[in-house]
Amino acid sequence: MRDQRKLIAASLYIQGRGAIALLGENARRLGKRAYVIGGHTALSVTEERIRTSLDASGIEVVAIDNEVKDCTYATIERLVEKGKGAEPDFVIGVGGGRAVDTAKAVAWKLAVPAVSIGTQCATNADGSAESVVYTEDHKFLEEVILPDNPAIVIVDTDVIAAAPVKYLIWGMGDALTAKFEAGSHAEAMRRKGGPVATNTALALANATFESLMKNGLEAVEALKQGAHSDAVDEVIEAVKLSSAIAFENTGCALAHALHNGLTQTGAVKAEHGEIVAYGTIVQAAYEGRPDEEVRAIIDWCDSVGLPTKLSAVCDHDRGALERAVEYACTKDANAENMPEKPDTLRVMKTIDRIEGGY
Ligand SMILES: [Zn+2]
Repeated sequence: MRDQRKLIAASLYIQGRGAIALLGENARRLGKRAYVIGGHTALSVTEERIRTSLDASGIEVVAIDNEVKDCTYATIERLVEKGKGAEPDFVIGVGGGRAVDTAKAVAWKLAVPAVSIGTQCATNADGSAESVVYTEDHKFLEEVILPDNPAIVIVDTDVIAAAPVKYLIWGMGDALTAKFEAGSHAEAMRRKGGPVATNTALALANATFESLMKNGLEAVEALKQGAHSDAVDEVIEAVKLSSAIAFENTGCALAHALHNGLTQTGAVKAEHGEIVAYGTIVQAAYEGRPDEEVRAIIDWCDSVGLPTKLSAVCDHDRGALERAVEYACTKDANAENMPEKPDTLRVMKTIDRIEGGY
């Protein structure tokens, strides 16, 4: 079907201060036996609140595991075996991207619904129907597409705001790109006759960008002072909900392709969201957007503490950089989501121009 329009998302998203308290009453419809999976730090902060909420709704924790570090097949298998004996009605993933991705995959293999409780804002994986799987030595292995999105996503903003501010900055860096990558992906699909991007997903990508530009700096400053403001809540929604639905229902493009190229060809010294933020500047400039528009993105990144220069994300020499860009433009699958195949030389020139001060 050439004209197909499709949108998927988590069934229920609840965000707010103390939102974990609403877990039990909302999860009751999923059953009475919960299997809780998370990282050590995430559960040390939230386990008591999770148990209290489940308990108040008559839900029993039939199994719990607080040793999730990476989303690997070995971890998933271990947790599936542990879960089989406990016969849970649903799985609750608690933590960052790796923990919730692991829990979603375990729920899928146990054929029960998943619930996500994100404890920091570096990721928008909480609501998606996919798990990013890593090798035992922490290298990206593959993205596994799951049949269902989580039934419930709980975002307790007290917990998110108490996490180190760097996570929120990284999450903003990854979400920043949604507008640009969703736009180019939609145009690429239109030219190729692929599925039609919904206006809904594109509107959410734009809304994410506008919210970050408006609230990002204020949110970072508030959190640095230990304060919790409306701007913090706006940014959390932009990352955890708007950007998540936008990403999952469109696709990545040059910004993520460049991220992948840089990580494939040498050591990087920045996090995923930071490299993607830099990649977003490159994509926006490469697309030939007006100088003021590109400068506004660079200025915003500077203000919130996201990298705007290559030297801030990696130590690639000229040869390594050329190999990275070559990879991004010719080998990375996300390059296919640009309206026209990206040109290696033009991307190099764009990077040089950004290095020289845009
Ligand atoms: Zn990303």
